[in-house]
Amino acid sequence: MTARIIDGKQVAAEVRAEVAREVKALAEDGTTVGLATVLVGADPGSRVYVASKHRAAVAAGMLSVDRHLPETATQQEVESVIRELNADPGVSGMILQLPLPDGLDGDAAVEIIDPAKDADGLHPFSLGRLLLSRPAPVAATPQGIMRLLDHYDIETPGKKAVIVGRSFLVGRPLAMLLGAKGVDATVVMTHSRTVDLAAEIASADILVVAIGRPGFVDGTMIKPGATVIDVGINRTDDGIVGDVDFESAVEVAGAITPVPGGVGPMTVACLLANTVRLATQTDRQGRSGH
Ligand code: NAP
Repeated sequence: MTARIIDGKQVAAEVRAEVAREVKALAEDGTTVGLATVLVGADPGSRVYVASKHRAAVAAGMLSVDRHLPETATQQEVESVIRELNADPGVSGMILQLPLPDGLDGDAAVEIIDPAKDADGLHPFSLGRLLLSRPAPVAATPQGIMRLLDHYDIETPGKKAVIVGRSFLVGRPLAMLLGAKGVDATVVMTHSRTVDLAAEIASADILVVAIGRPGFVDGTMIKPGATVIDVGINRTDDGIVGDVDFESAVEVAGAITPVPGGVGPMTVACLLANTVRLATQTDRQGRSGH
């Protein structure tokens, strides 16, 4: 059996087109949608990510504000840029590109972001609301994964979803989304201390791998017919590869995301979707008070 390829590029293009239509409609009503990014230092990977977010924002008709601070920036300087953007009415959503250079506290800086402008959905206020199943910006990568499952009609009720990796960026919010009422998967979130990880992986109807280890999961490890979502982005001599060995897994899985072209494009598209949603919020002041 050869798996169905989950084409994140195509679904992301649809999401971006929908966002562009919404941005246009808002502009006609006099509302500007603006995405701001804060990048600190010169990490090449972070620069590439930020540049792609800007290109996507501009292509969707958004105002794009790029704040780049040097590697030597202090915590106070980073936080003061975030406060400026909080106060800027042209900025609907912002992201702080993580990780920050050594010596800076990314968690503390994220907490400075006005939750009403939290395009990444990583502010504790947004994550707390996600835990409570209340409306809030949902972290872009887990949101992108949920949209892919939905788009490809992957059934979730009663299915066993195994998530490998428990980061706040991917694994934990995704566990909340997959286990939410109405989605109804039975979720197992695994990590580097999981005993018999292989048995967990082999039992997954839906397997999500987000650990940052090239080719960690191969076709011999997965349940035939499983849906395999590969979140990993690993730069190797052979180019960018995922956490799943695609060549062997595609022969066993029922559906699989490639890397590149799977989850990655969805992350950027969902970031834009969050930003346009934040621009339409009328209760900005109320939420800012938290
Ligand atoms: P992270 O914060 O470094 O977390 C990695 C997680 O993987 C941790 O929970 C860790 O367990 C677990 N882990 C590491 N080695 C393991 C092993 N051998 N067995 C089981 N679990 C293991 O990483 P992240 O930010 O979530 O990113 C993970 C990967 O996804 C990276 O390749 C990153 O580039 C990629 N990513 C892609 C996108 C996208 O848009 N496609 C977005 C975000 C991230 P412990 O908690 O026990 O240490």
